[in-house]
Amino acid sequence: MNTDSITIKSGSTAGKLAILGGEPVISAAMAAMPAGPYVDDKMIESIVRTTKSGIWCRIQSPNGTVPTFEKEFARFMGTRYCVSTGAGTQALNTCVEALGIGAGDEVITSPYTDIGTISAVLFCRALPVFADLDRESFQLDPDDVEKKINENTRAIIPVHIGGQPANMERIMSIAAKHKLTVIEDACQAHLTEYQGRKLGTIGDLGCFSFQASKNIACGEGGAVIGDDETLMDKCFTVMNHGTTRSGQHAVIGAKYRMNEFEAALLLPQLETLKARHDKRNENAWYMRAKLRDFPGIGLQKLYEGTGTSAWWLFMTSYRKDKFNGAPREKFIKALSAEGVNAGSYIKYGFHKSDVIRKHISDLKVYNKFYPAERFKKYREELECPVCDIVCDEEMLTLDVPTASGKQYLDGIYDAIVKVYENRDKLNSI
Ligand SMILES: *Cc1c(COP(=O)(O)O)cnc(C)c1O
Repeated sequence: MNTDSITIKSGSTAGKLAILGGEPVISAAMAAMPAGPYVDDKMIESIVRTTKSGIWCRIQSPNGTVPTFEKEFARFMGTRYCVSTGAGTQALNTCVEALGIGAGDEVITSPYTDIGTISAVLFCRALPVFADLDRESFQLDPDDVEKKINENTRAIIPVHIGGQPANMERIMSIAAKHKLTVIEDACQAHLTEYQGRKLGTIGDLGCFSFQASKNIACGEGGAVIGDDETLMDKCFTVMNHGTTRSGQHAVIGAKYRMNEFEAALLLPQLETLKARHDKRNENAWYMRAKLRDFPGIGLQKLYEGTGTSAWWLFMTSYRKDKFNGAPREKFIKALSAEGVNAGSYIKYGFHKSDVIRKHISDLKVYNKFYPAERFKKYREELECPVCDIVCDEEMLTLDVPTASGKQYLDGIYDAIVKVYENRDKLNSI
């Protein structure tokens, strides 16, 4: 497409950039939207009820909010079992531990994620092996995943980044071929559908987070879902400080229980979740349609079979060659001044983390269980050039709130066009 053919759709895109003293496209009044997590009266009543009931911990009642939430969430997701936890990180760690993955084992995952994904592997003293990304989807590149498999690989943790699906068709077939377990990190991907199934139900186990920023939230919380009874019982035991459902102290385990207040907040949200999810999708697809032919912004690639999605993040690629070579940070600065909430998300992939490198080289257990040649190769392979480009130059997230109307979304687009029209000034700001 000819970059000069963009037409200015409304008067508001014309004129001086707000960062240079002009009028912002999105006024404060237009942007006024409820901040923070979703709250309604049923949630408040539920918290009050739990407080008064004196049942504050799951072991006090088999019919308390936590066991009820587990049943409801499993039903909602279409799986047989759910084990709730105190965080998404705890859910991921519960899975790795329940699978008996530990020192000497390797787990392949994405460097482009929340630290929780990596901690879950490191807590078990297993080795997180990073595969690179697909540049347009920001998801794991299945070819690189396959390249990183060796005789010590036990599992793959695909991360559905942004809430949109990783290439699960390829990842599941690679896992089947090499007899590996798949733990889906669906911590951002509540209700996302892929080839007719919900994310979290495709791999052997699926993990969710209910941390305050997520689409279902209770401050801190998480869940593991799955269909395999034996494996899910193991997850329960790990979560329940090593104590089985029947009260036997079976293993040494962390205590990762969700409390009754957290579940009291979550339960009523299941009733409103679908409607909020549909509104998020309506807004995300409206924004995608507006940006589709815009030359400077690439839309996140969605794999074949992507249905409705969580859109936890609305991810795009910034193309600086279309903005007079201006670095992404200057574009974000100019766009922010126009009243748009834009960001660059994760600063660097975890293959670059000094803390992780230090942790692995300092801990005796790593030095004991992994041969020196393996570490040498591991360090040499800590390179994910696509992830680096995404982090350093291209990732551009736009806040597309559930509660926003079309006028606000039009404002985001108009602001982008305005900055584009003024691209010759970007390098000087
Ligand atoms: C939020 C998140 C986690 C961790 O969940 P917590 O509840 O914050 O511990 C893990 N992975 C991804 C991709 C996340 O977004």
